[in-house]
Amino acid sequence: MPLDVEKIRKDFPILGTTANGKPLVYLDSAATSQKPRQVINAVSKHYRKNNANIHRGVYKLAEEATSQYIKSKEQVAKFIGADSYRSIVYFRSTTEAINAVARAWGDVNVDKGDHILITEMEHHSNIVPWQMLAKRKGAILDYVKLSGSKFLDMEDYKSKLTSKPKMVAFAHVSNVLGTINDAATITKLAHEAGAAVLVDAAQAVPHMPVDVSEIDADFYTFSGHKMLGPTGVGVLYGNEEILEGMAPFHGGGDMIRTVDFQEATWNELPWKFEAGTQNIEGAIGFAAAIKYLKKLGMENVREHEKALTLYALERLEQAGVTIFGPGREDIEKRGGVISFAMKGAHAHDIAQVLDSEGIAIRSGHHCAMPLVTRILNEPAVPRMSFYIYNTRAEIDAVVAAFGKVKEVLRLSA
Ligand code: PMP
Repeated sequence: MPLDVEKIRKDFPILGTTANGKPLVYLDSAATSQKPRQVINAVSKHYRKNNANIHRGVYKLAEEATSQYIKSKEQVAKFIGADSYRSIVYFRSTTEAINAVARAWGDVNVDKGDHILITEMEHHSNIVPWQMLAKRKGAILDYVKLSGSKFLDMEDYKSKLTSKPKMVAFAHVSNVLGTINDAATITKLAHEAGAAVLVDAAQAVPHMPVDVSEIDADFYTFSGHKMLGPTGVGVLYGNEEILEGMAPFHGGGDMIRTVDFQEATWNELPWKFEAGTQNIEGAIGFAAAIKYLKKLGMENVREHEKALTLYALERLEQAGVTIFGPGREDIEKRGGVISFAMKGAHAHDIAQVLDSEGIAIRSGHHCAMPLVTRILNEPAVPRMSFYIYNTRAEIDAVVAAFGKVKEVLRLSA
């Protein structure tokens, strides 16, 4: 069923505002999504009516807050096809979740001379924690190459699996190219080679149906703030057996069963990984975000973004800009993220001129410097990214603003 975008837009107070005197055109949802009033209200209601710390008090308010927090995890588990909330750990972000795995799993399972395999299209949050682990342990960090600067080169992947990596970590969807990787096949091949698998799904879960039981990765991570939820909640889904066998990442209150002067024992899953007071209102707002997305239907969300992306690719081609990532013919393997380049114009200048027209796009290396600077050979690229509230008219506004970019930068038409 097509999304009723006009109705959706009314739920997002910020979309009714202006930027630089023009109606706001928000095309940076890959960085963070906007929030509907349902999420804003859930957070505000928590503070107005239910605020208390969780797992601590025996009084009514604390019980209610605890129950809401657990319900949030139950909803997340169902949303991604996980069996139980026991496998859902909340961290601050995708970044923190990957760091947790690199530390808590990596320090125990990776030794000197072992290989860790990631890809050339990773976000820094799925590069740097592995670099740090490799340096701590004297391990070797390898990269799967790209073919045509668009897709993972599966032959290169298979050949690198022969080094028997301990961990294979990759993005489900690239935040620069928009490429949708075949997470289930990559995971299956990694498992056959004896590796554990972490999927960075920060750009996948917000935009399409996902089922962790089909993908079968050991770790699957994403961020609530990119899917209508508040900032400060990142999800680590982990295979329960593996999580059971892992030591905690953070130590402190709540993650323990008992503490003595020299020793402590750990709480059960998922609490073993959540030390100290958590982002309770964030979790509650996140639950409201998931409820909102479920009501729309993730198939419909994906179809909406696919149609917008196809339209944008066509308009950008007509405008003569260079587009990175899979083309229209590969729309099934492309999400709603489009990085591009305009001859003679620096990415930041393009973004600045667009900003003067009320259009918010991002420009830079998008926390993927190896990909942008080494593979795309650009110092920075402008990127637009779509979500449930974006329209064709907004894409038309971008293309119209290209005229102003050329005028301001005195580029020939
Ligand atoms: N991975 C990818 C693919 C991303 O796009 C992002 C966010 N830009 C992250 C990881 C990091 O997410 P967070 O900032 O929420 O930790």
